[in-house]
Formats: sequence, C-alpha cells, structure tokens
Amino acid sequence: MARTFSRKKLTNTKLLKEYASWIYCENCNETIGYLCYTSYEKVEFDYECSCGNKGDLLIDFSTINQPKHSKNSLKMKGNRLCCPLDDSPLITILDKKIASFSYQIVCNNCEHLYSHNS
Ligand SMILES: [Zn+2]
Ligand SMILES: [Zn+2]
Repeated sequence: MARTFSRKKLTNTKLLKEYASWIYCENCNETIGYLCYTSYEKVEFDYECSCGNKGDLLIDFSTINQPKHSKNSLKMKGNRLCCPLDDSPLITILDKKIASFSYQIVCNNCEHLYSHNS
C-alpha cells in the first residue's frame, strides 16, 4: 500500500525521524515515547509532560476511510503497546515521564481504531 502522506502536526514536541521513532518533549528534551513506523495509519497523541509542558502529535496517512472503532485496549508487550488482534507494535508511552496522556491510533493491518484517556 502506498503511503500517501496526508497530515502532520507537532506541538511542543519533537520526533527523531520524519514519521516515527523517539518522541521528545520540546521543553525538557526527555524522551516520552516511541512511535513505530510501519504499523500505524493515524496517530493522535496528547500529553502533559512531568516538566509541565503540554504537547501533542498528529500524523495521518489517510489511506483508510472508515476505521472500525474498537472497544478493546492495546496490549502491552515488553514496553510496547500492540494491536490486540494482530500483535502489530504501535506505540510506546513512557508514562513515568508524563503526568497524563491520551491517544487515538489506527492499526493499518486490521484498520481498527484504539483510544485511551488517562
Ligand atoms: Zn518535558
Ligand atoms: Zn491491528
């Protein structure tokens, strides 16, 4: 599947590579998570870092028109949150470094959308 890039927005946040890899808080430069490149279709991640910075990240490849909303949670494997249906690794959130976070992420394999609020 060709990845036609659609939208990208980072607020107070840095990403090591263009669409993936380590996620940094731009205020304290701490790593707060890790995004896997090949498995997600769309990610929205909002957080408040323990340094007080509020940041967010949005990347959307928009190749799936209607993701199926899942009531299930992502499953933790090691420190990586994975799709519970096909085990695709999606995102790591270093929740010890952040005060609160929420996310929505779409797995591009099974086309389900997973969301979480803390
Ligand atoms: Zn910070
Ligand atoms: Zn999946």
